[in-house]
Amino acid sequence: MADPPMSKAQMHLKHPDFVRVAGYSATEVIKTFNRPQKAVDMLTPYWIYVGEPMDNLPFTIYAYCMADYFRGSFVPRNRSHEMSMRMQQKVEEGGAQFEFRQEVEKILVKDGRVYGVRTRRGDEIHCDYVISGAYPNRVYTQMIEPLSEVPEGAIKFVNGNRLNVCPVSVMLILAGTPEENGFVNYNTFSGDTMDTNEIWRNSQNLTEPYNFLTTVCLNFANPDCVPAGYTHVSITNLVPVDPFLDVKEEEYYDLKRRLASEMIGKFIEANGVDFRSRIAEIEVSTPITISHYVGAWKGSIYGYSHSMDNHIVAKRTMEEEDHFIKGLEFAGAHALAGDGQAPQIKNGRLAAKGVLKDMKKKEAAR
Ligand SMILES: Cc1cc2nc3c(=O)[nH]c(=O)nc-3n(C[C@H](O)[C@H](O)[C@H](O)COP(=O)(O)OP(=O)(O)OC[C@H]3O[C@@H](n4cnc5c(N)ncnc54)[C@H](O)[C@@H]3O)c2cc1C
Repeated sequence: MADPPMSKAQMHLKHPDFVRVAGYSATEVIKTFNRPQKAVDMLTPYWIYVGEPMDNLPFTIYAYCMADYFRGSFVPRNRSHEMSMRMQQKVEEGGAQFEFRQEVEKILVKDGRVYGVRTRRGDEIHCDYVISGAYPNRVYTQMIEPLSEVPEGAIKFVNGNRLNVCPVSVMLILAGTPEENGFVNYNTFSGDTMDTNEIWRNSQNLTEPYNFLTTVCLNFANPDCVPAGYTHVSITNLVPVDPFLDVKEEEYYDLKRRLASEMIGKFIEANGVDFRSRIAEIEVSTPITISHYVGAWKGSIYGYSHSMDNHIVAKRTMEEEDHFIKGLEFAGAHALAGDGQAPQIKNGRLAAKGVLKDMKKKEAAR
């Protein structure tokens, strides 16, 4: 059953540091550490995984992300998809049923409460609760049936939330071992500057080569990910989706090739080993790829941005007001805990708590 929320007094007593830094940006709090710039620069690159320049990134979100890194990590042997499949297995053991390749087209609502969904195939499934992985942007503008059931506040909610960053990735299999290709560790951040305002400015357009990259060589975490003698690499930048919205269909493939070529070139500049002649396989993905394959709103994988003017603490306080249709919960990067695989488990748990809370309320009203 849902945990009762902690009182403000308890919060001050039990988590004074959390309360003390809640109103400050990552830059503001890190300044108080009085560390040399080099140390600050070493603490900065992870900003990209939460997608907001350090001056506008709430320290709370930055600290949450860094705490995860300091605790260490696990990499599933058969990729992250294995993790989803294992969770599916567990949930099925609990009696749930999965229906793959069934897109939900409509969420059926009457008198402010959901009563089911309709799939693209046309099947109508009646239920008391819907937990949506689709973004509120799509749900409130296209999926609720009838749309007259969407309150004005829901539209204000989607308009008031800015989409977070999306990945542009070049995925490569290279002939030769990681060492032969110049890789010495799992994750390398590289670029011209560690000024995140400048990186943010650079990522707003598609004309300049990206000036900040995060590169992962999977061999170091998972030596069996490719046959012996090969290297598995992904070179990524995480950027706002806006510049991609104006790309014309006929320009798209050229753009992908140019971005890939620039990103590989930039990484090689930093890495020092030119592996271009050893590329055995290459795939390039953009926000358009993500939108196409998983239907994420405008290709966003990171949900809504967490910024100083749209702070997690404020979001938490507004939870009740931001709940617009009874029986409808959201679980995904667009929900409270934000992006990443681990936060999705948290978001799923929060959605389940929402359902349980409503069930309890309904029971009490009987
Ligand atoms: C290249 C890349 C690298 C990443 N690396 C990491 C990493 O190292 N660590 C990390 O923590 N995170 C990483 N992420 C981010 C992480 O994958 C996402 O933040 C997370 O998957 C978001 O979860 P989600 O449930 O919102 O969306 P998804 O994982 O996209 O799941 C949403 C699901 O809902 C389905 N769906 C949507 N609409 C409908 C509908 N109408 N009907 C039926 N089904 C629907 C979609 O098909 C999809 O299966 C990475 C993402 C990418 C793209």
